[in-house]
Parts: sequence; structure tokens; C-alpha cells
Amino acid sequence: MLPTFFTAGFTGVRLARSPTTACATTLRDVNNPFAETEDQQALRTLAREVAARDLAPKARHWDETEEFPEASWEAIRQAGLFGITVDEKYGGHGFGDIEAAIVLEELARADVSSAILAQLTFNGPPRAIQHLGSEAMKERWLPMAASGEALFCIGISETEAGSAVTQMRARLTSDGDGYRLNGYKNYVTGGHRARVCLVWCRFPGSEGAKGIGAVLVDLKSDGVTVAGTHVKMGLRGTSEAELAFDDVRIEPEDILSVGDVATSDTFKTLIAHINHERCGNAAMCVGAAQGALEYAVNYMNERTIGGKPIAELQGLQWKVADMATRLEGARLLMLRAVHLAGPHGTPPALETAMAKAAANLAAKFVCDESIQLLGGYGYSREYPVERVYRDIRGLCIGAGTVEIQRNFIGSQVLRGAAPASAGWRNSSPG
Ligand SMILES: Cc1cc2nc3c(=O)[nH]c(=O)nc-3n(C[C@H](O)[C@H](O)[C@H](O)COP(=O)(O)OP(=O)(O)OC[C@H]3O[C@@H](n4cnc5c(N)ncnc54)[C@H](O)[C@@H]3O)c2cc1C
Repeated sequence: MLPTFFTAGFTGVRLARSPTTACATTLRDVNNPFAETEDQQALRTLAREVAARDLAPKARHWDETEEFPEASWEAIRQAGLFGITVDEKYGGHGFGDIEAAIVLEELARADVSSAILAQLTFNGPPRAIQHLGSEAMKERWLPMAASGEALFCIGISETEAGSAVTQMRARLTSDGDGYRLNGYKNYVTGGHRARVCLVWCRFPGSEGAKGIGAVLVDLKSDGVTVAGTHVKMGLRGTSEAELAFDDVRIEPEDILSVGDVATSDTFKTLIAHINHERCGNAAMCVGAAQGALEYAVNYMNERTIGGKPIAELQGLQWKVADMATRLEGARLLMLRAVHLAGPHGTPPALETAMAKAAANLAAKFVCDESIQLLGGYGYSREYPVERVYRDIRGLCIGAGTVEIQRNFIGSQVLRGAAPASAGWRNSSPG
């Protein structure tokens, strides 16, 4: 049976699955290890149409005004896209990282601020609840995620604990059968608008990475305050909030993962889960860069100097060649990471770190060169490429900076770890 979004998404408009859009199979498709299934192609078509029709026209507005992109939220919700990774049992479509990446790529191609709403739902707290939560927690929260009734946010970073996440101070103290949470989380995407926050925090007796766990906090609870929002360079539709937790009661059923003070196992599980977010981040970078590249190519074909389109200048064709090659390299790394996750698994750490770093750097390069190719217009707020550049800059920092990905990749390679390519000889013990 077709998932409902193919037939009922989009205010009831049924998407055509004509041979030209969904079923055309070429030899390149047959031999392509990452070729999309028919359902994945239809999903891409749907996401692309939502992005073009509902997200792109207002992208500049959200950027200029810093208003929360309510209309984008509504469009994604009406198309049934929020439920992509939520199990069917809880009202979702039960897909995995590949489908999440397809949608994120297409939405970010039009507007990264709006795509982040889907990223928070696909790869943020709902995914953690699905993999790690109790049945009661799933029943309470996942239907809200799938239907787009509630926005979820994640509170990991603190003012003195960003990359150095194990220096976090947010802490639980025992309170009868539950706990009290005290702490301050910084840079929480959508925290001012979300209904619930997944807070990483220390369980009583925790030191270093040992004893770090995670709890869900209903942001309507007593003791929760939005202390402020950051005014930023890009991604201006989805603000990052500072959230203060002052003696907030945590019921036993709000605990996602207990921090075991004897080991760092829970922390490692939570960190591994961030691989979903990193792949989503990479997919958004790939989509945003794709949009910028396409815009620059169209511009080059139209802009004439001395009666000839600038697309004919070989010096500029080389720029386009480098942009396209870096973009495609990053996309392939991202696709490999999400394919390795399997339908319901988690993308592996090394391939994910490579995909995130490559996509961040490719997007930075492609968006920067797109501005250059548009000349003075590229630097103008009236053209989208400067906004996309500002937006993807934030993606190079969020979900673990490029430097932190490189730290991980470098240390793994030096220990003899190998990514999933046959040409590498794995020399790590065991
Ligand atoms: C757009 C955006 C959205 C975000 N959303 C969220 C969110 O929803 N939830 C959340 O919890 N956090 C979020 N963050 C916070 C983000 O995770 C942190 O900003 C990030 O982890 C870096 O931490 P920091 O800002 O404290 O920088 P620092 O950790 O202080 O780093 C400063 C610089 O030093 C480098 N550096 C640090 N340590 C090392 C090292 N060991 N080796 C080499 N270089 C190093 C960093 O790469 C960086 O260049 C978001 C950030 C941004 C920009």
C-alpha cells in the first residue's frame, strides 16, 4: 500500500507517478548503488513541490524578519512529511535515514531555516524517543511528532560546554521517586517555540562522561524559562534559544536514558544517536548547495558580457566544474552513511563524520563561489545566494563543528580504523 503522503499529502492533490518522473529506469539507475526506489522518487517529488510552492517564496521573508516560519511548518505538516521517520504504529511512515535525507535535501534547496523544522522532527528527539524511550513515552510524544502538532528541541550545549560536551553542568538531584533538574542550555534550536526539550544532563554522582543521561522536559513545566534568543548571521527563521531549568520536576516516565555513574555507556549511546542529526545536517548542506549552484548556472546562462553569456567563459566553467565535483563528492559520502544505517539503524560514526565534514565544506565552497559568479548581485540581499551562504555557515557549527568531525576522523584513521570501502585495509586490533 502507498504511504498516505503520496495520495493525501498536499491538500489532497495526488502526485503523478508517471513513467517520466518515477519509473524511468536507465542503465545508470540500474548500476547506481544509491538509485532511489519508486517510493523514494515520489517522496522527492513531493518534497520538491512543497519546497518550491510553499517554502521558496517566503524564504527571504523569514530571513529578513526573523519570524518563526509558521507557513513552512503548516506546509510540511499538511503534506504529511513530519511523520517520515516515526513508526507507523504512532502515526508516521516508518522510514529511515535515506528518506529523511531525501526530504531534507529538497526542503533545504529552497530554505534551510524551514528545513530545520523537519530536521528537528526526523533526526532530533522523536528519533531518540523511538529508539531509546519507553512504550509510554512513545505513545505520549510520537503521535505529536508525526502529525506536526508539536515542535521538539534538544538541549545539549551549555555556555562552557559546547564541543567539550562532557563538561556540562546541568544536573539532576533526587526528589522522591523522580528528580529535580537544574541547569542552563544554550543555543537550543527552536527552544522558544518548542513544546518539549530533550535535555542531556548529569544523574546524581555523575562526573565526566560517566553518569550523563537524558530526560524529556515539557517546556510548559514550572521552573522552565526562555532566557533569550540569539540574533544570528543566518538561519534567522529558526532562532536558537537559551533555556533555564530551575528545580524542574522530572517524573520517572520522563527519563529517556538513565546515566549510569559507573560507566559512560549511556553517554556513548546518546552521542551515537547524534549521527542521525549529522547526516541530516549533511543532507541540508547538500540541498542548499545544490540550490545555490543551480541558481548560479541559470544566472550564467542569462548574464551576457560583450554579447555572450558568461557561461561561455572557460575560467568560469572551471569554477562550476569544481563546485559540481565537490558537491557530488559530499553527496556520495552522505548517501553512503545513510545507506549503511539500514532501514531502522543508526548511521556509523566514521562515515557520518566524513559525510558531515565534507558536506559542510562543500556547501561553504559552492555557496561562496555562487556569490562570486553573480558578481555584485551575488552580494545583494535581493538574490538568494548570499542568504544560503549565511545559512549553511551555521550548519558548519551545529551538530558538532567541522573541527570536531576532523578530530574524530583523524584519530580513528591513526588508530587503524577503516571506513566501509574495500580499498582500506583495516589494521585496527579486533
Ligand atoms: C545554528 C546552530 C544551531 C545549534 N543548535 C543546537 C541545538 O539545537 N542544541 C544544542 O545543544 N546545541 C546547538 N548548537 C550548539 C553547537 O552544538 C555548538 O555551538 C558547537 O558544538 C560548538 O560549541 P561552542 O559554540 O561552545 O564552541 P567551542 O566548543 O567553544 O569551540 C570554539 C572553536 O574551537 C574549536 N574546537 C573546540 N574544541 C576543539 C578541539 N578539541 N580540537 C579542535 N578544535 C576545537 C571549535 O571547532 C570551534 O571552532 C547550535 C549551534 C549553531 C551554530
